[in-house]
Amino acid sequence: MKPFVIAMNAADNVAIVANAGGLPAGTTLESGLTFLEGVPQGHKVALTDIAKDAPIRRYNVTIGFAKEMIARGRWVTEQLLRMPEARSLDDLPICTQAAPNVEPLTGFTFEGYRNPDGSVGTRNILAITQTVQCVSGVTEFAVKRIRDTLLPKYPNVDDVVALEHSYGCGVAIDAPDAVIPIRTLKNISLNPNFGGEVMVVSLGCEKLQPDRLLPPGSIPIRDERSANAAEALDVVCLQDGAHVGFMSMIDSIVRQAELHLARLNARKRETIPASELVVGVQCGGSDAFSGVTANPAVGFCTDLLVRAGATVMFSEVTEVRDGIAQLTARAATPEVAQAMIREMAWYDAYLARGSVDRSANTTPGNKKGGLSNIVEKAMGSIVKSGSMAISGVVPPGEKAASKGLLYAATPASDFICGTLQLAAGMNLHIFTTGRGTPYGLAACPVVKVATRTELAERWHDLIDINAGRIADGDATIESLGWDMFHHLLDVASGRKKTWAEQWNLTNSLTLFNPAPVT
Ligand code: CA
Repeated sequence: MKPFVIAMNAADNVAIVANAGGLPAGTTLESGLTFLEGVPQGHKVALTDIAKDAPIRRYNVTIGFAKEMIARGRWVTEQLLRMPEARSLDDLPICTQAAPNVEPLTGFTFEGYRNPDGSVGTRNILAITQTVQCVSGVTEFAVKRIRDTLLPKYPNVDDVVALEHSYGCGVAIDAPDAVIPIRTLKNISLNPNFGGEVMVVSLGCEKLQPDRLLPPGSIPIRDERSANAAEALDVVCLQDGAHVGFMSMIDSIVRQAELHLARLNARKRETIPASELVVGVQCGGSDAFSGVTANPAVGFCTDLLVRAGATVMFSEVTEVRDGIAQLTARAATPEVAQAMIREMAWYDAYLARGSVDRSANTTPGNKKGGLSNIVEKAMGSIVKSGSMAISGVVPPGEKAASKGLLYAATPASDFICGTLQLAAGMNLHIFTTGRGTPYGLAACPVVKVATRTELAERWHDLIDINAGRIADGDATIESLGWDMFHHLLDVASGRKKTWAEQWNLTNSLTLFNPAPVT
């Protein structure tokens, strides 16, 4: 491959090195630019002389100010950048950008499981909800027994999973922010992939009692037989006096599980419009290619999904905070813009309570991959949201209440973001990575997209889609975005499994608990 750099905008004064292994000092590009020093892959080279204190621009955005004069051809390292202040949340442009004038996409379908409440699953899974961490060992033991002895009798059921978490007791459960972990756990229990078959394992003495977690009426009515919502909550309480010894607890859980498995087993896939997909997009282990290849392809695919009537959630507060002006400009209504500002302000205050700000986000791996700071990372991250109008905001732990492109306010932490997107009703997950992560979830398929061919080849049995082909010149953002769209329909239909599913790689649910523990 000949020496090759990528600039994102004609107004940029830096570009990133595309070549695997980087480019050595003395390299001269077709443009006449000569490298004054070696620059690693994904890192920035100065395209012009940049005066001290002048803006350094990538994505046509100021990602920093030069701490010293930077000559054309130098490696623009993170040490040479002073980070800009965060954009004030006052005086933002509200609904100033018209939505793109594009036709709806019709006729795209997948094979899914229609639920009684109208939602649609892409997998058929029995989930066992836990009110408290105390019961997790017992539940895990029971789940293993259910997998070994019961699951083979119910071939239409994909899996049984325990919704393990660290919440439930030893927490300030009446603190205002405790609503976040509680509603998260409730709404995950109602994720469309679980078919409305809610069963709960409780210890008995915990603060988060089953009827506080799932009050009467919170489970969608399955059919006439369970019209009485109170009857619908199926709880196995370990401290129940009827349990004599450990095995009697296991027997209770296994017996109750079988009732749910029998009903889940009767579910059949049917042809469903693509508008019933609820897709969470996320990135993790980002590098400078994230915003060049994988995330723009996801953004293109996001537009296709939204045009097909589906729901797409983008998240990760600290990775969109620096793009707030772009987001409020794209809001469909002033109320949506105000909701985004409210969520950002809440998160600014949450970070300030811990004496940090959004800059605490970037990792050593991000920096090694060429991302100098959170502004540069955010500009690459936000493109996952595509170009359509933002039609709704989902506060952390809430269920998405509308379709279209939604901003689901979650931390950027991969596991916390994934957990909150599951609570919002996600039935399919797209995850982009530059440095590489084996991330997966038990509750929902995770399609992983590599930003670079080198990673996709090295992790050939972990990465589902190679967006590095865009930087290689073998695909365009449009062609890869369409491939991704069709791949998602195949995965949603169960025709394709993700690599994380093949290997059964699952990360723990991680509840976002901004409230105190006791
Ligand atoms: Ca993330």
